[in-house]
Amino acid sequence: MSVLVFAESHDNTFKKPALESVFFGKKTAEKLGTQCVALVLGNAENPGQLGKYGADKVIHLSDASLANFDSQVYSSVIAQVAQATGSNVVVLAHSSNGKALTGRLAVKMNAACVSGVNALPETNGGFTISKSVYSGKATVHYALNAENKIISIMGNSLSPQIIGNDCPVESVAVNIPAAKVKVVNVDRVVGQVPLPEAEKVVSGGRGLKGPENWGIVEELAQVLGATTACSRPVADADWRPHHEHVGQTGIAIRPNLYIAIGISGAIQHLAGVNNSKVIVVINKDPEAPFFKGADYGVCGDLFEVVPKLTEALKKFKAQH
Ligand SMILES: Cc1cc2nc3c(=O)[nH]c(=O)nc-3n(C[C@H](O)[C@H](O)[C@H](O)COP(=O)(O)OP(=O)(O)OC[C@H]3O[C@@H](n4cnc5c(N)ncnc54)[C@H](O)[C@@H]3O)c2cc1C
Repeated sequence: MSVLVFAESHDNTFKKPALESVFFGKKTAEKLGTQCVALVLGNAENPGQLGKYGADKVIHLSDASLANFDSQVYSSVIAQVAQATGSNVVVLAHSSNGKALTGRLAVKMNAACVSGVNALPETNGGFTISKSVYSGKATVHYALNAENKIISIMGNSLSPQIIGNDCPVESVAVNIPAAKVKVVNVDRVVGQVPLPEAEKVVSGGRGLKGPENWGIVEELAQVLGATTACSRPVADADWRPHHEHVGQTGIAIRPNLYIAIGISGAIQHLAGVNNSKVIVVINKDPEAPFFKGADYGVCGDLFEVVPKLTEALKKFKAQH
């Protein structure tokens, strides 16, 4: 028995969600008294580096047919590797790829599956894992009683730490199924850290009045090294692209810092952001619901407050 971690690589490199997954897998393996095996599919530079974050060994399958993510092909390969390595716990990141894989894998492996967990499992006398629900208002504890278990973890649940050295890299024989989907073109959004991985996010709402005013949001984000996001009506009105929309029907994020500018704090918006570590709200309405969930609130006109905050941060950075 071992814990298998699917470690996603992008552009040959491992981003934070992959390192978090491996670290989470190692901590879970320690609780179960077993090994942590990381699985890397497609191109990746030095997969053995995952040993630093807890992998005891890496299985790397670099077949050309695995170069592009395909949930049908990947889930088949992961299930085969789980069987070959005797792994009955599989850990993935709750990324868009992870979300596409968890359900398929659970069916293929006849497994108990909990997606979007944010804490390590309890393994005394069973296998229980917790997940935050109802916009963070409640926590559900799931007992996973099936032999096979699939877990996907929310970003920022556990900070990955260097706890070892590079580990051995091996391969196993698998039967890679023919893809039913052909990738004809990939257009990547470049520049910012993608929202699910961002540690700092500056987000704007309808209080900005129109897309022509987004410069102040972007400037603040640039000074902080943050990623920009928005509320749903803003994306619906095409003021901002849809991939920036956070909330119940958009992306759920857990950054260390979330700055909400001109956003009322409707429950559907909070559903995607209220697991952020620190929330700062800038709103001119003292009754705005978002203030109730804020760690810091500035009650004022965003068109005055945000440029002043950006200037103050620029000065601070120049002096330090
Ligand atoms: C099924 C469903 C799903 C939904 N999913 C989502 C979702 O995923 N994400 C999401 O965001 N919404 C979602 N919504 C919409 C949600 O209910 C709210 O309507 C939306 O979040 C409001 O967006 P907003 O805060 O930008 O706009 P508004 O509610 O219009 O709020 C604008 C805020 O800006 C403030 N403001 C205005 N001018 C200034 C100024 N000069 N300075 C400072 N503050 C100012 C106002 O006081 C106000 O609080 C969903 C709704 C439904 C029904």
